[in-house]
Amino acid sequence: MVATAMTRRRDPYGQDEPWYDVAQVCMNGHVTNAATELRPQHNQKHCETCGTATITKCPKCNADIRGEYHSILIDPKFPTPPFCITCGAAFPWTEAKLNAARELAMEQDALTPEEREQLAKSLDDLVRDTPQTIVAATRFKKLVTKAGAGAAAGFKDILISVAAELAKKTIWPAAP
Ligand SMILES: [Zn+2]
Ligand SMILES: [Zn+2]
Repeated sequence: MVATAMTRRRDPYGQDEPWYDVAQVCMNGHVTNAATELRPQHNQKHCETCGTATITKCPKCNADIRGEYHSILIDPKFPTPPFCITCGAAFPWTEAKLNAARELAMEQDALTPEEREQLAKSLDDLVRDTPQTIVAATRFKKLVTKAGAGAAAGFKDILISVAAELAKKTIWPAAP
């Protein structure tokens, strides 16, 4: 049974146990409602930013998309989740950004065809925190620097919201 805001467990002191809400996110990764159980009145069928349909479940495994964490220590920031915590699949918005970044890699005339391929291949490891992330981030930075300032800005726009923390620190050390 899916617990709702009304049926939450309480701890022995009568305090509500902290719990995760269910998030609603558009197919391009804009969070339209971080707490669909607590604030269902904020649900929307489409995104006000890009117009695409919104989802609350992983398209691969149908599990709820984990939303806002409700506890006494409330963190109002809710970053778009890149992967499903139940099946591990990349969410559609993560795939869309990777595809866009791959296409952008192929448009870089200042790079050789081989370098464009290397750049495109480095992208998958930028969004996952793995032992390969630093390697991929270092390669990515080198190639994007060679590609030029316009390319660097374009990749940053596409990838900053889905890049793993480790990759962000390596590639854009000044970014928040
Ligand atoms: Zn959107
Ligand atoms: Zn899933």
